[in-house]
Order: sequence, then C-alpha cells, then structure tokens
Amino acid sequence: MNNKVYDKANSILDLKGRGKKREQVLSNLEHLYEQEKTKGDTLAQQILGELLGPIKEDEVDYQRFFLRDHVIEELTRLSASQYLRYLKYRYAYEMYPIRRHTAEYPPLVQIEPASVCNYRCVFCYQTDERLSNRKHGHMGMMDLDRFKSIIDQIEGNVEGVTLASRGEPTVNKKLPEMLAYMSGKFLAAKINTNAYLLDEKMSHAILQADLQTLVFSADAAAEPLYSKLRVNGNLDRVVKNVKRFHDIKEKHYSDSKLITRVSGVRFHSDQNMDEMVQFWDRYVDQVAFVDYNPWENVYDSDRKGIDTPCSDLWRRLFVWWDGKVAPCDVDYLTTLVDETLLNSSISEIWNGNTYNTLRQKHLDGERQKQEPCSRCVVV
Ligand code: SF4
Repeated sequence: MNNKVYDKANSILDLKGRGKKREQVLSNLEHLYEQEKTKGDTLAQQILGELLGPIKEDEVDYQRFFLRDHVIEELTRLSASQYLRYLKYRYAYEMYPIRRHTAEYPPLVQIEPASVCNYRCVFCYQTDERLSNRKHGHMGMMDLDRFKSIIDQIEGNVEGVTLASRGEPTVNKKLPEMLAYMSGKFLAAKINTNAYLLDEKMSHAILQADLQTLVFSADAAAEPLYSKLRVNGNLDRVVKNVKRFHDIKEKHYSDSKLITRVSGVRFHSDQNMDEMVQFWDRYVDQVAFVDYNPWENVYDSDRKGIDTPCSDLWRRLFVWWDGKVAPCDVDYLTTLVDETLLNSSISEIWNGNTYNTLRQKHLDGERQKQEPCSRCVVV
C-alpha cells in the first residue's frame, strides 16, 4: 500500500492523505508560533521552536521533538485553540523520557476498568494463571467512585488517558458511566477493546464520550489465524460489532472526531499487513501492527541484556482496578512498586521515593538487577 509508513514507535501504521494533513498542521503551527512569540510561555516557545526552528550546528546529536504521522492525524481533529495544550502533552510524552525529566504528573495515565478478560490471547499475560486465576486476588473490576476520584485528580493536570490494561474494559458494566464522566476532560483519551462485547449501547456510549481514539485489538483478517492468536475470540462476531460501530458512527455521529484503529501484535509469520489493511480498511481509519513483547511469560523468560533506562518510567503510570499503581503492564503481577491510591495521590506516587529509586536504578545501569525489567524489551 502506498500510504503505509513505518512509525518510529515500532509500529506500522497505515494512514490516508498524510502529505496534505502534515502541510495543514505545519501551517497552523507557524501561525501559532507567531502568536506565542511575545507571550512569555517558555515551554510553548521551546516546543514550537523545536518543531519549526532551523537545526543549529551544536544540535546535531540533540534529539528534537517531531510530529509522528499519527500525531498529525490527532492534531487535524482538534481546534486551533486546543493545539498548544495537546502539543504540551505530546512533548512531555515523547521528550521527558529522553530528557529524563519527571514532571508533577505523568504525561499519560492508563486506567484499568477491569483486569478480567474474556480472551486468552497466546501472547498475553492473561494466560498466566498467577494473574488470571481468581484465587491470587488480581482479578476484579474498578468501581465507579474510584474511577471518578482518579479522573478528578488528573483533570487539568494530564491530557493522555487510556482505558485499558491487563483486562478487557467492556466487561465492566459501569464503563458507559465511566466514559460519560470523563467526556470532554482530556485531549488524548483512548480506549482499547477486543470488540467481542461491543454492543449497540456500548457503541453509543463510546461515541458520546468525546474520546480521541478507539483501538480495536485484532491481529488477523481471517480464520483460522485470528482464533489461533485470539483464543476464545470469534472473528465473525468481532467483525459484525466493528461494522455496526462504523455504521452507527456514520449514521448518528457524522461530526465525530474519533479516530478508529485496528491494531495487532506482530507475533506470527502468517500475519500480513497488506491483508490486514485490505480487510479492515473499510471499517476503520487506521490499521497498525505493534512489536511483540514477551508479556505472557516475562517473569520466566530469558534476560534480554538491555541496559537502556525504560522510557515508561518518565512517560506513563498505570492504575489497576483496585487502586494499586504500576509503572507498566509488563509487570502485571505488580512486583516493582508497592503503592496504592488508597494511601497517596498520583502526583505523590509519581514523584515519591519508590518511583525515584526505580528510575535511579535504571539510570545507574542497574536495570539488569530489576525484575522483570531485565527480561523486558521496552526501552
Ligand atoms: S518491566 Fe519493562 S516496561 Fe516495566 S518498568 Fe521494567 S523495563 Fe519498563
């Protein structure tokens, strides 16, 4: 496909009309740059300067902020007055891990409406009984009050919010109320689903929630590969649900700015990006593949010998259904930090001793002494 691009975030993303959209966004940014010149907002000037300014000689090895294709797509769906707020979020998300800067809040908070999942995908931690067997205490659903208190903490402080983590969000019956509560409060709000339970009511709830992105997790375009990877799944049912969502969006929400994406994990040699695009393209805006990380057995897998500090320690924070906090979902058994929102706020945890000690260990070249960091491929 002509419009298929390799994105630096290790994913392949298929985008439509990239050139024109980039031109339009750059023209808006130049306008914004002129407006901001005299305002004294140093972060805004830094961001716009890095995006638009010439590269100076002493900056040859300096990693500058740039706009990935999917970011351009997100910008095209915002109003000009929202640009700066969004760019500040995106800058923090991309550049704070590189500059090792810890802000007052994480750039992105990932909230888990449910740790329960109806699937057992072959590459997923749900296949690990230590997680998914209820007797170990990791399975459950977030209650609405806890969700609201998290949203209240991060509204105005965080732009990136993703509803998803170890489980499938749509198994939580309170999800429509959660979506309604967070609606309109963030500029980079996303939800991931396997679409198996995506009925008409849930489709309307998502479309009314003013989210920016909806990701359908699917790794194949045909059977038997789909069911081989997405164990307990049913491709016919998922396609029917994704198609119905598409039709509802077209018919009842034609002004919706929501970006829809099918995203698969690159895991099996039979997977074919062109076939994926051909099949899913009629129902969604984007089709993507992300690299496989050995989620399903990370604690027992080989050490990877990677010493680079992990970007997630400066980029995002996960909140499990029960209020426990984790730096990533690779550590799905929550061994790296022992913190909960029952005792501290998100900002206190993000800037607290446990997190700072973990960051320092990574910076001191001691990632290999941390489990499961030594067996993880995230950099
Ligand atoms: S387990 Fe992986 S993703 Fe999680 S903090 Fe360690 S290196 Fe980062």
